[in-house]
Amino acid sequence: MSDDPAPAATAEPNRFLEGFIRGLKRRCPNCGEGALYTGYLTVQPTCPVCGNDNSQYRADDAGPYFTILLVGHIAVGPMLFFPFIWKAPIALVLGTTLPVLLVLTLVLLPVVKGAVIGVQWALASRKAALAVQEPAPPV
Ligand SMILES: [Zn+2]
Repeated sequence: MSDDPAPAATAEPNRFLEGFIRGLKRRCPNCGEGALYTGYLTVQPTCPVCGNDNSQYRADDAGPYFTILLVGHIAVGPMLFFPFIWKAPIALVLGTTLPVLLVLTLVLLPVVKGAVIGVQWALASRKAALAVQEPAPPV
């Protein structure tokens, strides 16, 4: 045992936040410079700047799940407080609100997916750091 305090314990939240913010910016979670996507949602397998393997992070349904959760809380919930929603003809309500919800969802989806990938990067790097710190099993 050493007398040194565990510096990794204090650095973990910063790394988590770092990956989260880089992902929100749709940048490579490892360097923050390279583009995370080649298209709208297609993850670039290898970062062109640092060479990090970004294909190992599988966001799967987490991005759409958190996007729906956010849109529901940001737009749909507050909309229910306006009498327009309850009193106007249903065609008018759907015709005005659905395009707004669609655009909001499509704008948020790549941002949220990037954040999920950034968090996965932080968790993977934490796991790798813990594996290095583990002592070798006795023989
Ligand atoms: Zn990179």
